[in-house]
Amino acid sequence: MSNQPFLRCHNVGKIFATGKDRKPLIALQDVSYDQSRGEVVALLGPSGCGKSTLLRIIAGLVPPTTGEITVDGARVIGPGRDRGLVFQAYTAFDWMTVQQNVEFGMTLHGVASNERRDRTNRFIDLVKLTRFRDAYPASLSGGMKQRLALARTFANEPDVILMDEPFGALDSETRWIMQELLLSIVRETGATVVIVTHDLEEAIFLADHIVFMAAHPGRIHEKIPITFKSGMTNIKKEDLVEMADYRGLQKHLMIEMRKASADFKGMK
Ligand code: ADP
Ligand code: MG
Repeated sequence: MSNQPFLRCHNVGKIFATGKDRKPLIALQDVSYDQSRGEVVALLGPSGCGKSTLLRIIAGLVPPTTGEITVDGARVIGPGRDRGLVFQAYTAFDWMTVQQNVEFGMTLHGVASNERRDRTNRFIDLVKLTRFRDAYPASLSGGMKQRLALARTFANEPDVILMDEPFGALDSETRWIMQELLLSIVRETGATVVIVTHDLEEAIFLADHIVFMAAHPGRIHEKIPITFKSGMTNIKKEDLVEMADYRGLQKHLMIEMRKASADFKGMK
């Protein structure tokens, strides 16, 4: 394996023109970070700090004003099959069954039918929708729909999975079970994941590294490697929250979140 970072954000800046007078808004300023293959990075920070904008730039949906993104050495110039997306709002096709939904992207991409069937079965099993393979999305709960979205995205086997608050619309109890499920799929597939969240606990639980951002202008506030989980597999959330290192990091992030949130500047 090369030592080159797999995903590289290099001096990324984004300026939007806003309002009638096209006033410039610095959504991102000089954002640089490197991510290794197989790593999970959480983009964490208060609302408006540019998390979604950065994710969309990595996805190739929005061009940066300055700087560049490279994936495996290649500059991102638009959307590509090497990057799969999962959003908060669920995005399956209502007229297709679970199985057809998972298979659809692979059909578009010309994956041979045997391979397609194998991957469909594998990912439906991994997200634990085996019993619902012939069901239509309308009959699924919110959590099950998001599991379907995960299966669809992972089944295409993109190099990088980009997720924007994927569990943000779910009940809190569904949410941590989804987080555990996501980690098990990441372990199984070795996927490289960038996940946007404003939830501290979600970031600590999921990430190998936290890229903590601050607002106005959107920028990196701190890069935090999460080393205390290294080597631990099948972590249950209830066990993690008891660890002293977890509590210490949670407290640190709470203090920094207060500082990073521009709305509260000046409040003691
Ligand atoms: P986050 O996801 O961290 O909440 P966003 O990336 O959505 O933040 O937004 C960062 C800033 O950029 C915000 O001030 C937002 O209003 C602004 N912004 C985002 N997209 C656009 C756009 N298309 N046009 C103008 N301003 C935008
Ligand atoms: Mg956002």
